[in-house]
Amino acid sequence: MTKREEKNKARRLKWAKFPYEKTLKDYDLSEQKSLSERQMRQLKEMNWLEQQYNLILLGPPGVGKTHLAVGVGLEAIEQGYQVMFLPMGELTTILKTSDYTRKSQIALNRIKKSDLVIIDDLMYMAMDPYEANLFFQLVNHLHEQCSVILTSNKAPDQWSKLMGDQGITTAILDRLLHRVEVIQMDDESYRMKHRQRVFD
Ligand code: ADP
Ligand code: MG
Repeated sequence: MTKREEKNKARRLKWAKFPYEKTLKDYDLSEQKSLSERQMRQLKEMNWLEQQYNLILLGPPGVGKTHLAVGVGLEAIEQGYQVMFLPMGELTTILKTSDYTRKSQIALNRIKKSDLVIIDDLMYMAMDPYEANLFFQLVNHLHEQCSVILTSNKAPDQWSKLMGDQGITTAILDRLLHRVEVIQMDDESYRMKHRQRVFD
């Protein structure tokens, strides 16, 4: 790699704002039965990203959704793409304040220029109609422009209850599910299984 490419990669890595850097190599497939080696290979090949497919990672807390999303994001950066990682709460704040704070304006511009936008923990909380509308506008903008990875511990059929408005939910799902791979991760929590013990 030339110095310039290295600098460029370092900048993209910083922009992505990952909560931590856990790679797909650190991801133990034998611990996650719902993901095959073939799927893992396809995830790494990034054809889905080239074709602007979305990914939805579903499952209860602790099964490895965030780790997998970060791992895919890091791999995308490695391959030259621009990525942004957003916990849902932060995304909501950015959307609500982008008109009057410069920081949010910059963040929103970066989101719109990304090849891959990762939204972590969608629908962990209910949205009010204003938030749902802002989210819809973003999804509408990103639709067929880039890939989106969503993680959620709620199934899409529960989302409408949490977004309040059936019409908005349908419009959002319509765009997100148009080209999507859904990975349902339902195994026992990795976190629980590998927790450190203090009692014997
Ligand atoms: P979720 O986002 O589904 O709640 P996380 O991705 O935060 O779960 O995973 C919880 C912890 O367990 C993290 O430290 C993660 O690195 C680890 N983990 C989960 N699944 C795996 C796996 N298959 N291989 C390695 N580590 C895993
Ligand atoms: Mg998580």
